[in-house]
Amino acid sequence: MTDTQPRRRVVVLHTGGTLGMVRDAAGAYAPRAGALATALTRLPELDDPRLPSVRLEEFDELLDSSDVRPGDWQRIADRVAAAFCGADGGPPPADGVVVLHGTDTMAYSASALAFLLQGLPGPVVLTGSQLPLVEVRSDGHDNLVTSLLLAATPGWAEVAVYLGGGLLRGCRSTKVSTSGFDAFASPNLPPLAEVGVDVTWRHDLLRPPAGGPLRVGRLADVGVVALRLFPGITADTLRNVLRDPVRGLVLETYGSGNAPSRDAELLAVLRAAVERGVVVVNVTQCLRGGVQMGAYAAGRALAEAGVVSGGDLTAEAALAKLLVLLSRGDDPRTVADAMARDLAGELTPAAPA
Ligand code: ASP
Repeated sequence: MTDTQPRRRVVVLHTGGTLGMVRDAAGAYAPRAGALATALTRLPELDDPRLPSVRLEEFDELLDSSDVRPGDWQRIADRVAAAFCGADGGPPPADGVVVLHGTDTMAYSASALAFLLQGLPGPVVLTGSQLPLVEVRSDGHDNLVTSLLLAATPGWAEVAVYLGGGLLRGCRSTKVSTSGFDAFASPNLPPLAEVGVDVTWRHDLLRPPAGGPLRVGRLADVGVVALRLFPGITADTLRNVLRDPVRGLVLETYGSGNAPSRDAELLAVLRAAVERGVVVVNVTQCLRGGVQMGAYAAGRALAEAGVVSGGDLTAEAALAKLLVLLSRGDDPRTVADAMARDLAGELTPAAPA
């Protein structure tokens, strides 16, 4: 950027998470109001004109992301939209938004934002850290500064996750390490940008800006659950999980989408749920690859019971997508069809047969 160009503007939404935490009386990390703002005053580089100008907005209730619920996804989406739109007499619209968020459920929130925010005018980068900014070895400093630069970069408009080296599409990301600074992976899509000495963008992967007005989807109180299959699971367990008012199930299956096929009662429970309008989506427990229900008889049985393929969706993206789609009030068939279609870059379309 040359000196003649105006400084880009980034709004930082602080929702909680380790980056802004301090130790509580018992010595455990916990969020504390105002702690991040104080820590940022000790970062003189935030005044460097090579960085965008920053406006910090702290949420009223700062959360460990283990406490984040769909209502919080809605609040974050609304605040992102407000940051991009600006308001009469208020601060000018942002060019990009950084969302500070705990890493534990960041992949769920990033996925939900990708489906809730349509027609984004600029980038939204979720970041956090494994060690709080107040710790001397914190990874939060690089994550924050780099996320600010990425969010200020013109020409892209997606929800992404940045932690320790790679800018990942949010609805492809998953947390893979409790301790590494590169805590996230995007197993089925390369990073949108590799961040090292240089930032190397994969322009071929970036989704073209949607254009049109920014719209924010509304989440409703619909029952969506996730269940990871395990050897020995019974029809009764599944029946209990699928009780009313559940309207959607993300079923985490084995390998390329397989489930016990010799348990007729288990399959009957699934079929009955689909028949009464529950959308059941098949995603794999494997980190890489996706579901192909025709590959094995054990997978075909699920397809015959009316289970839809989630392709190479992550379990996090599947849950968020199902909730967003069911919240629109569409009938189960329409939701099931949309689950199999790529809406926000979250899945690789199946090759034509
Ligand atoms: N428990 C924390 C959270 O998700 C972990 C982190 O931020 O890395 O809020």
